[in-house]
Amino acid sequence: MTQRLVLASNNAGKLREFGQILAPLGFELHPQEAFGVPEADEPFATFVENALTKARHAARLTGLPCLADDSGVCVNALGGAPGVRSARYAGEPKSDQRNSERVLADLAAHADKSAYYYCVLVYVRHADDPQPVIADGVWAGEIRPLARGDNGFGYDPHFWLPALGKTAAELSAVEKNAVSHRGQALRALVAKLSATLA
Ligand code: IMP
Repeated sequence: MTQRLVLASNNAGKLREFGQILAPLGFELHPQEAFGVPEADEPFATFVENALTKARHAARLTGLPCLADDSGVCVNALGGAPGVRSARYAGEPKSDQRNSERVLADLAAHADKSAYYYCVLVYVRHADDPQPVIADGVWAGEIRPLARGDNGFGYDPHFWLPALGKTAAELSAVEKNAVSHRGQALRALVAKLSATLA
């Protein structure tokens, strides 16, 4: 039997990617806008608090199990910034280009250019679920001033992967998924959900 699952996001790319991976577990993924759920605020300092809040908010309004994600880039020399502010690091309106420029400017005086992408996924069975299923992924690299590559989005053209000799924007979608923070988190979630539902 299929179980309807609400994604606490309206991002078409995430809906497709998450939906394909969760379908074999019997989940049919729907965007929250299909249920008229407005976006929740994300006021917290940690990714997991924001994702949990989004999942609870959608579960409260739909009465269905919900999945939420939160992700961003954390630069070690900047104390983990941009972190939860990754999407709007350079303010409104959102701009990948200006966000990258701000990170590069902030980092200019630091020798340590190491950074990592982080993604957390939170699944709640209902709004007051006392035991959400939480899975995360970390993808380490370095921030480089020189932009390379046309794939991906966000900080990818500046996210250098020393082991691969490429930026994240030089990876195909399949290559990126195999190693990325989001790919790791999704596979970890599937493993946990499979164990939980078994
Ligand atoms: P969200 O969790 O999808 O809202 O992503 C938050 C922000 O983190 C994005 O707008 C990007 O700036 C950054 N980000 C998250 N994942 C990636 C990635 O895979 N590549 C580049 N930037 C990312």
